[in-house]
Formats: sequence, structure tokens, C-alpha cells
Amino acid sequence: MLSPGGSLLDRRRFLAGSLAAALGALSSLPAQAEMVKSKARIVIAGAGAAGLTMAARLLMRLSGADVVVVDSRSEHIYQPGLTLVGAGIKPLSYARLATADYLASGARWIKEDVAEFDPVANKIVTDKGTSLAYDFLVVATGLALDYAAIEGMDTSLIGREGIASIYGGPEAADASWRALSAFVEKGGVGLFGRPATEMKCAGAPLKQAFLADDRLRRAGRRGRAEIVYNAHNQMLFGVPPVDAKVRALFARQDFKVNFSHVLTKIDPGGRIATFETPRGTAELRWDLIHVVPPMRAPAPVRNSALAWRSGPFAADGWLEVDKATLQHRRFANVFGVGDINGVPKGKTAASVKWQAPVAVDHLVAAIAGRRGTETYNGYTSCPLITRIGQAMLVEFDYDGRLTPSFPFIDPLDEHWVVWIIKEKMLKATYTAMLQGLA
Ligand SMILES: Cc1cc2nc3c(=O)[nH]c(=O)nc-3n(C[C@H](O)[C@H](O)[C@H](O)COP(=O)(O)OP(=O)(O)OC[C@H]3O[C@@H](n4cnc5c(N)ncnc54)[C@H](O)[C@@H]3O)c2cc1C
Repeated sequence: MLSPGGSLLDRRRFLAGSLAAALGALSSLPAQAEMVKSKARIVIAGAGAAGLTMAARLLMRLSGADVVVVDSRSEHIYQPGLTLVGAGIKPLSYARLATADYLASGARWIKEDVAEFDPVANKIVTDKGTSLAYDFLVVATGLALDYAAIEGMDTSLIGREGIASIYGGPEAADASWRALSAFVEKGGVGLFGRPATEMKCAGAPLKQAFLADDRLRRAGRRGRAEIVYNAHNQMLFGVPPVDAKVRALFARQDFKVNFSHVLTKIDPGGRIATFETPRGTAELRWDLIHVVPPMRAPAPVRNSALAWRSGPFAADGWLEVDKATLQHRRFANVFGVGDINGVPKGKTAASVKWQAPVAVDHLVAAIAGRRGTETYNGYTSCPLITRIGQAMLVEFDYDGRLTPSFPFIDPLDEHWVVWIIKEKMLKATYTAMLQGLA
């Protein structure tokens, strides 16, 4: 592999190769696939990364179908950008897109939320009382951030009392950057960590810790701060080789780690955080705390017959889909794509890119009266930023096997090319995905 210290010419050639390879993914279009004529009524619940991608890809395969997307939100959040907004690398506007700009032409959009799923009667009912019957349902509601589960926490606190939380959206990420800037100025104790529930982009809490460390070092103030990472269990990352690498990096950067510490309460006035640990509760004082809330299925899914009824995904109400086909295990005309799925891994936009073609294959096959053939292997990827200008491209499957896309980038090496992918290329690939083009 070329080291970051290679000659300028080598670096240019290497970057050109990487760009070509990354953009090569854009050609994975369903262009050669047959068009299926159908008058099927397809309802897609949610117009986020998964919902928009599904609408675009279904309309590329079906002629005559009625594809209806249901979601009250007009703003589309480019969530992978929140990490960069929260570290002052990109402005707030970078993470804001408009749903209308990416909704496939031919799809109908009902600007209401699904309040009730009734898979027995094959219909949904919205919060405004609209009832929609369907032949096929795609559940793409993403997940719900349960800030209220942390006693004393309220999203209006983000940006005050040293409280940061990039998960809360573009404004929250911007307010988090203000909180981080004040911390860099004053120093003290910075608390980072993650919830004990399933979560989207499990690398993001680690990235925020690394970026805070980098901001402090760049300001020449690292010596005046302590960085503490509170892991929810005995690992820093759920994939063993990545966990080992992150441990080594945390040691190199002089982070303190508390294992099996789950945030349960905050006292903003006193700046005291309470954690549940195997030995009882522990209290830690903060100057900066990056709060990552517990995450669950949104209530309409959690309370419906579509949720898992037993097993590890039942408590938080995740969608009961087959992990390979993404088809519901009890309601054959229902499919799940994105964060809502109760599957072992795959809560990233990168997973959506690989899940959507699988769900489309099986849904179109069902319409055509045959069986789909595509399978999803749990592919997830995380450009794990370790400092501004450097990142690792961690890619893995359901079994925790590393699945590198680029033969010239070691997934456990920090590399400037991965930073370029994250900072310059990911958003274009993401928006191409929303249009069914990646
Ligand atoms: C801080 C952060 C950093 C991230 N970094 C990365 C990264 O580097 N790489 C990566 O690949 N992924 C990353 N992700 C994860 C990625 O953004 C998500 O996995 C992806 O957006 C999931 O798509 P989705 O459609 O399932 O959910 P979302 O994109 O969240 O969309 C869900 C949609 O459903 C709607 N909805 C909710 N409830 C209802 C309802 N009842 N009725 C109708 N509509 C409803 C919502 O309004 C929303 O529009 C990051 C996420 C965060 C928060």
C-alpha cells in the first residue's frame, strides 16, 4: 500500500484510482433488469435514505404500479454529514437536503405519518386519519431516538451546559460544535460513549471522541483536557479486529476508557452524569458530554404486529424480517429496508445501498409470481475518522468478517484517501443512491 508520505505524483495517481473505484459503484444500476407491468399498490412508510432509494428503484423496475411514499417530513437529513458539522468541518447546511428534490418522479407523496400498521387488513392509517390499502408495504421508518430515557436529558439542552449530541439533527450538530469549541477553549473532562441499545452508525460516538481530541491538539490544549470514553459493554466496537484497533488508537491518543458504563441520568446544572455499571451506579463530572441516546423502533412499528415478538429484537420493537431477503417473516407482502430492520447489523446508509436492491428483487419477483434470488449479507461500512484528514474504511458483514471494497486500502489502516472519500465523495454517492443510481 502507498503510504500517506508518498510522492505527489504517486498520491495523485492513487487518488485518481480511488475515485474511479468508488464511483465504479455507481454503475450497479438495475439497467438490464426486465420491466414488470403491474397495477400493484405499494406503500413505502418513510422517505429517508431507505424510503427514497426504494421508491426510485421500484419505479425503475415496475411500469403501472402506484408507488406512494408516506412521511410528513419535508427536510431530508444527510446524517453521515452530522459528524462533520459537529466538529466544525462543514456548515449546518451541509446536512440539510429537501425530500422533494430526491423523490422519484412517478411516486406519490403523502405528507403525513403512519400512525398504525395493520398487516392483517393490508392497510396503514396516518396520523391525519388517512387510510391506505396496499398490496405491498415497505417499512422504512428508520429509528426513534429516545432522549427521554436519559433522566434529565432534553434536546433543548444541546449546546448548553457543555452538552453535545450530533444525533439530534443539523441544528443539534451545529450546537454540538459550539459546545466542543468552548471545551477546546477551557479544557476539562470530556465524556463520550454510546447507548446499550442497537444504534445507527456505531462508529459515530468514536469519531466524535477522536475529533474532539484532534481539535484540542490543533489548538495546543490537549494537555488541559481529559477524554473519557464510556463503553456500554466490554468492547469499543462490535467487530473484534476493529475493537482491537480502536483500543490501540485510544491508548495512543491517551483516552481513558470505562467499560460497561451506560448513561442513565444527567444533572445539567451540576454537570454530573450517572452511569449504570455492573458494580452499581457511578457518577462522573463533565465539562463536555456527548450524549448518544438509546434507539428503538418508532412507536407505530413497535406497537404493531410487524415487530419481533421474541428474541433479541423484540424489546425495542424492531421489524421482524428475514435477514437475507429482508421480507417479513410472517407477512409475505411486507419488506423492511434500513435502520428499522431487526437484523444483527446494518444500521448505516451504506447498508441501505446494499439492502434496497435485495428488497426490490424479492418484491418485484413476488409481483411477477416467482421467487427472488438476491441476498443481503449484512454489509455495513463506517468511515471511522481518527483525526481531521485521516480515517479507516471499516467494512464488515453479519458475521463480523471484514469485507474491504478497495484492495489497496487496508480496513484497519488510517488513510488520507478514506478521509477524502468521507469528506468529498460520500455525499454525492449518497444522493445518487437516493435516486436509484448507486
Ligand atoms: C451522526 C450520524 C452519523 C452517521 N454516519 C454514517 C456514515 O458515515 N455512513 C453511513 O453509511 N451511515 C451513517 N449514518 C447512518 C445513516 O444515516 C442511517 O443508517 C440511514 O439514514 C438509515 O436510513 P433509513 O431510511 O432507515 O432512516 P432515515 O434516513 O433516518 O429515514 C427515516 C424516515 O422515516 C420517517 N418516519 C419515521 N417515522 C415515520 C412514520 N411513523 N411514518 C412515516 N414516516 C416516518 C422519518 O421522518 C425519516 O424521513 C449516520 C447516522 C448518524 C445519526
